[in-house]
Amino acid sequence: MQTFISSCLQEKSYLLTTPKGYIVIDPGVGIFEQMKLYIKDMSTCVVLLTHVHFDHAFDACAFQKHGAKIAVHKLDEKNIFSKANLSFTMGLPFAKFVPDIFLQEGIIHIAGETVTVVHTPGHTQGSCCFYIQNTWFTGDTLFEDGGCGRTDFPGGNEEDMQRSLKKIKKRIDAGTFYAGHLS
Ligand SMILES: [Zn+2]
Repeated sequence: MQTFISSCLQEKSYLLTTPKGYIVIDPGVGIFEQMKLYIKDMSTCVVLLTHVHFDHAFDACAFQKHGAKIAVHKLDEKNIFSKANLSFTMGLPFAKFVPDIFLQEGIIHIAGETVTVVHTPGHTQGSCCFYIQNTWFTGDTLFEDGGCGRTDFPGGNEEDMQRSLKKIKKRIDAGTFYAGHLS
């Protein structure tokens, strides 16, 4: 697994290379240019989004344009087309895309890997955590210092967040997961 840091908000993106392709998690601002050097065949690449805020999904469109598929929870789809992706806060134009795959709680198979999807609303309605190759990816739901993402953005909900944290903390051992930002 390779970690890439965006210079925009220090958001973290991850690249997993599998025997059958590639899984990209949360490609932030400028990540396509960094990551493409490591991806031989973009048509075998799937972009998984923990949620649709610009700092996690900004470069998803660039991957899709080069042949990758994008997977996101249905409840965050509307953020792609609205101010709720928060791109305007940085004055950046968000490149819109149509998702190829809608995620829901459960198990999916992509790029030859088994991915466990846990729906964890709170930061956004469609926030998800992923378990792949014995590793958890928690986006802005659970940070590595034990904190959690803000709940005062559009679609955020504090009660949902508390429920989601309870749910996810039952399954994740401290220090064994990767979050969406440096902490
Ligand atoms: Zn976020």
